[in-house]
Amino acid sequence: MVSPLKSAAAQLLRIQSFRMAEVIRILKGDYPEAHCYLDFASPFQLLVATILSAQCTDERVNLTTPALFAQFPDARTMKDASKGEIEKLIQSTGFYKNKARAIHETSQVLFEKYRGEVPRDLDALVALRGVGRKTANVILGNAYGIPGFVVDTHVGRITRRLGFTKAKDPVKVEYEVRRFVPESDWVQFSLWLIAHGRTVCTARVARCEECALSKLCPKVGISAHESKSVSDHAISDKGIGRARSSVRKRRVLK
Ligand code: SF4
Repeated sequence: MVSPLKSAAAQLLRIQSFRMAEVIRILKGDYPEAHCYLDFASPFQLLVATILSAQCTDERVNLTTPALFAQFPDARTMKDASKGEIEKLIQSTGFYKNKARAIHETSQVLFEKYRGEVPRDLDALVALRGVGRKTANVILGNAYGIPGFVVDTHVGRITRRLGFTKAKDPVKVEYEVRRFVPESDWVQFSLWLIAHGRTVCTARVARCEECALSKLCPKVGISAHESKSVSDHAISDKGIGRARSSVRKRRVLK
C-alpha cells in the first residue's frame, strides 16, 4: 500500500509537471525568437564571451569582442597574446584582470589538451579556469546543441517566483527545476526565461498584470502586482566579480 506521504508527493509532482507544461507552452508562443544574446563565430568565441559576461551586460560584451576576436580569434592566437594585450581589449567589461587571466589560461589548456577545441563535456569544461556550471551549460547548449540547463539570475529568480523551487543555489535550482522540463527544451527554456526576465518579470519589477503566466504563477515573494522591493542576487561563475554592490547588480541585470 502506498503511504499517504508518498501519494501526496506524487500528486504534487503531477501538478508541478502539468503547470510547467503550460508555462513552456506559453513561453514558447511568447518568445519564438529567444536566442543567445552573445555574438560568436565559434565555440571558443562563445566561451570567451561568456567569461566576459560575468557581471557585465551582453551588449557591452558584444561591443568588446569584435576587436578582441579580430586579433585573437582562437585558442592558438589567444594563448600567444600577453595578458596585458588581453586586459587592454577587455577593460570595459569590468574585472578585466581576472577575466584576462581566465581567458589566457583557458586558451593555453585548450591548445595543449584539446588541440584548440572546446570540449563537449561538462566535467572537462568546468575544470577550465573561469568556467563554472552556468558557462559550461551555455557552451553545451548554444555552441553544440547538447542539452544544458542554464541557471542565471533570471532563471533562478523567475522559477522561484513561479514556485518551482525555493533554492537560491543555482546548482540546486538546476536539479530541482529541470526534472519538470523535457530535456529537448532545456536550452530554450533558459533563453525564454532570460527574455521574460529582461522584459516582464524583471529583478526590480514583476509586471504581473501584463504577464501571460499570471494565472499559473503563485508569485512567490511578490507582495503586490508589482514589487519594487524585490531584489535578487546576481549569480556569477567561479567568483568572477562576486563582490559588487547591489546597486551595481541591479544595473547590470536590467
Ligand atoms: S506573474 Fe508576476 S511573478 Fe509570476 S512570472 Fe509573471 S511577472 Fe513574474
